[in-house]
Amino acid sequence: MAPSDAAAPQSLQIEHRASLRDFNTFGLPAVAATLVRVRSEADVRRVVDHPVLGSAPKFILGGGSNIVLTRDVGDVVLKVEVTGRRLVAETDDAWIVEVGAGEPWHDVVAWTLAQGWPGLENLALIPGSTGAAPVQNIGAYGVELKDRFHSLDAVDLVTGRTVTLDAAACRFGYRDSVFKQALAGKSVITRVRLRLPRPWQPVIGYLDLERKRAETGIDAPDAQTVFDWVCAIRRAKLPDPAVVGNAGSFFKNPVVTPEQCRDIIGRDPEVVHYPMPDGSVKLAAGWLIDACGWKGKTVGRAGVYERQALVLVNRGGASGAEVVTLARAIQESVYGRFGIRLEPEPVIW
Ligand SMILES: Cc1cc2nc3c(=O)[nH]c(=O)nc-3n(C[C@H](O)[C@H](O)[C@H](O)COP(=O)(O)OP(=O)(O)OC[C@H]3O[C@@H](n4cnc5c(N)ncnc54)[C@H](O)[C@@H]3O)c2cc1C
Repeated sequence: MAPSDAAAPQSLQIEHRASLRDFNTFGLPAVAATLVRVRSEADVRRVVDHPVLGSAPKFILGGGSNIVLTRDVGDVVLKVEVTGRRLVAETDDAWIVEVGAGEPWHDVVAWTLAQGWPGLENLALIPGSTGAAPVQNIGAYGVELKDRFHSLDAVDLVTGRTVTLDAAACRFGYRDSVFKQALAGKSVITRVRLRLPRPWQPVIGYLDLERKRAETGIDAPDAQTVFDWVCAIRRAKLPDPAVVGNAGSFFKNPVVTPEQCRDIIGRDPEVVHYPMPDGSVKLAAGWLIDACGWKGKTVGRAGVYERQALVLVNRGGASGAEVVTLARAIQESVYGRFGIRLEPEPVIW
């Protein structure tokens, strides 16, 4: 695994037969035939211009917290490690902060708060890199990345050209963006600019945060308090990937028509559902899975987390195939009982 041309900082850091086990939060075994650490836009261009790597298919890797590796990776793995954080503009109505794609997302949330630029606190403790945050438009506790997004820079893997995309060009949707569609695997996000609105307004309408407000009696929490609440809620509910391998929520919450929802409520009055502004209804995938009796179950060396049925876990030594087998069994039983197809949230490779 020795870097073959690591002597000069300007040259690419290329590793061969690199284990990816420590680079995915599920802790799944897989080997990358070739892994390149990308530390700048120039590194991406060096890959594009490289006589061998240039034309090879690529696999872009951030923190590996939203992928399920079921096999070795023959494509060239580009491990994005671009660093840097800075305030690029401060206006009456926002702080604009620019962050390198390889910066750990949670560290950026904590850092902006410490600098006195609140706005990301609801997205605390989401694992992974800042560069991947726009890919699935990360969201939690009433805030999505798109609500705090300004623009990003991405390098095209064919032309090597850097483009700057605004929110409209990113086509953000629910756990979706152009980087999961037309640009999937084609562009490396190198820098993300966040827009943190001023004056700061807390977003605390989400049920778990309402509960915290009631418990603590704090009606007007500051941003640090919201950050602390979000961290406490997440720690109580989600497994720490450093202890138990997982990729967070394994399935998206399905969106159904009001008629479908009424039909399900007719049979299962308890179903957890949220009416959406466009008239559709979002169902809690975790509730559907729990209702099918999966919480705490184990199949092979993969299992369903005891405290949250939406999270699949590695019970120790699981392979990606075992995780996928369990996921399929869950999909089948949810479909059998509710007629709803659950869609995985992580990228299955
Ligand atoms: C315990 C836990 C809790 C989680 N909670 C949440 C949550 O609350 N909300 C939420 O939305 N997600 C959540 N997730 C999922 C995950 O953390 C996010 O999706 C995160 O943004 C993934 O970042 P990553 O760097 O690990 O991406 P990776 O897993 O490395 O990659 C994910 C996808 O993004 C692509 N990609 C990565 N970096 C780049 C780049 N620089 N340029 C272009 N494409 C790129 C990859 O090719 C891949 O398709 C959770 C995961 C875990 C393990």
